[in-house]
Amino acid sequence: MKNILVVLSGPSGVGKGTVVSELLKHGNYALSVSCTTREMRDGEREGVSYFYISKDEFKALIGHDGFLEYNEHFGNFYGTPRAFVENELKSRDVILEIEVDGALQVKKAYPDALLIMIAPPDENELRARLKKRGSESEEKIEKRIARMQYELSKREEYDYTVVNDVLETCVSSIENIIKSEKEKRND
Ligand code: 5GP
Repeated sequence: MKNILVVLSGPSGVGKGTVVSELLKHGNYALSVSCTTREMRDGEREGVSYFYISKDEFKALIGHDGFLEYNEHFGNFYGTPRAFVENELKSRDVILEIEVDGALQVKKAYPDALLIMIAPPDENELRARLKKRGSESEEKIEKRIARMQYELSKREEYDYTVVNDVLETCVSSIENIIKSEKEKRND
């Protein structure tokens, strides 16, 4: 059976990380670890959360066609390592958890990729939560909210949107979508 490239996106605070770890617990997926030029945050690990590299290293990788897609997001670069994804796809399904502009680049290069948007059950509630979050400046919070709206506005360009209301339901919907799309692609 042909393996599938699954691209998951969704606004900050929607619970993408938890959804991805549930998917990995249940299925034999390879999760792509991205490269980033942003600083490592508390609790993150090199090679697990991201590969943390400098802007110069990032540019060199762009020059060597090392990324399947990349994008600048809030002043930092993020990219999906091409070799890992292409290798893993030979033996299993691969999951990317990336923002919308990168996801749409992937769809152009790989029309067979399956794009799934994870949406909040209540946009206003997520907006309120983003406002309360941490010690960020008003300007940063506004930027994050504008970004949330932008991400959700791209949902029509995705193959599916799944609402993350009850985690188990969201995860099993995604699993069902992957299963039926794989069957379609193998018909
Ligand atoms: P964070 O800095 O909070 O870990 O991630 C910020 C955003 O970058 C998230 O929306 C995440 O999905 C996205 N992201 C992570 N890795 C990649 C990548 O390789 N490419 C792109 N385009 N976005 C990424």
